[in-house]
Amino acid sequence: MEKQILILGAGYGGVKTACGLQRQDIPFTLVNDQPYHQFTTLMHEVAGGRDHPDDYRIALHDLIDPRVGKIRIGTVSAIDWKGRRVQVDGASLEYDVLVVALGSETEFFGIPGLQKYSVQLWGFDSALDIRRRMVELVKKATAEHPVNVIVGGGGLTGVELTGELADWIPHLSRQYGVRPEHVHLILIEAMETILPMLDVELQRRAKQVLEQKGVQVRTGTKVAEVKDGQVIVDGHPPLSYSLFIWTGGVRGNRLLGENGFPVDRKGRVPVDPVFHPKGISDVFVIGDCAAFPGPDGRPLPPTAQLATQMGDHLAQNIGHLLKGTPLNAFHPHLRGTLASLGRGQGIGKVGNWKLAGATARFLKEANKARYLWSIGGWKTFSRKRGQIRLA
Ligand code: NAD
Repeated sequence: MEKQILILGAGYGGVKTACGLQRQDIPFTLVNDQPYHQFTTLMHEVAGGRDHPDDYRIALHDLIDPRVGKIRIGTVSAIDWKGRRVQVDGASLEYDVLVVALGSETEFFGIPGLQKYSVQLWGFDSALDIRRRMVELVKKATAEHPVNVIVGGGGLTGVELTGELADWIPHLSRQYGVRPEHVHLILIEAMETILPMLDVELQRRAKQVLEQKGVQVRTGTKVAEVKDGQVIVDGHPPLSYSLFIWTGGVRGNRLLGENGFPVDRKGRVPVDPVFHPKGISDVFVIGDCAAFPGPDGRPLPPTAQLATQMGDHLAQNIGHLLKGTPLNAFHPHLRGTLASLGRGQGIGKVGNWKLAGATARFLKEANKARYLWSIGGWKTFSRKRGQIRLA
């Protein structure tokens, strides 16, 4: 009898698994709460008003061939891995093989008021929300009532978003006849540097580029509490904000822990080299909700780069599973990190090469093109290449 393969989540890991199964003609059902796959790593561009928002998502029915894959739009509310069934909007879906690729969610660290008063850059809708709010705020900026946009958390998400907003503000100001100096953009980071995961040289370079674009970069500034219109930071006077965007960290999707999967302190499920959680052999967990050990034994960071590799690998392994041949262990290719610093510049490290400026930006744009091609070939590439700027 045909095995029921259920994939939860149409992010980078889930979509790559689905596309890989499709290429092998292996039937599956893909469950997602939205009818599209969004390019999550580019949401700062949506928030920063760069291109048409629809260039940053693709309808699932344009990716999945109905002769091979079924699409089920709904929200997963429970995973019964002992009874091999999943609850989706009140319906119970049975499976023989389950792929959990439900991604991560914002980490609020229990900071009082943070969830209530901040907006987060979390997917397409929230990116559009930030985009709309920015327009409304900039329109109203005056010398007496300047606008303060604060981004909390100077990791890759916060830095990419800040770079994008910094480039957009002068355009927006011109459009609405407002002076750009009446719109303040402030990036606050708890550590002594932004991008603490990168080399010192790249950290300095990123800070310099942001400051040249008019961003106030405040390091050693830890958010302790958020009130209506005010961020309380340790050891400094409170900061007033018109918009506070929190980009201070992520944790694994809460559904995993809530449904009895063993999770680490970041809510991610430790997995073995073929992505099984310990002792659960008909479930694979990949992407941001998996804690896969890196070369030093510590879990690798949750990135799209890894999620896509995991999805490709898992699709091959499911092919082996159905044929009864042994599964192959996953060996990640850690190619490096590339981050944009606005529309014309980037920063990053690929192998031992430290990159900055237009080269890093070019490689980042080339990555977008490669990804589009990998999920849907020419058809997808030609439809969605609007956000790619290779020249
Ligand atoms: P992160 O955890 O990497 O960075 C969050 C930042 O917020 C940290 O620098 C942290 O010190 C700071 N912070 C935490 N609490 C704070 C507080 N109370 N006050 C002020 N600052 C505080 O989170 P992220 O940037 O969202 O990234 C999440 C994951 O996604 C990472 O693994 C990252 O590598 C990946 N990512 C990659 C890219 C890329 O490759 N271009 C882009 C975005 C995200």
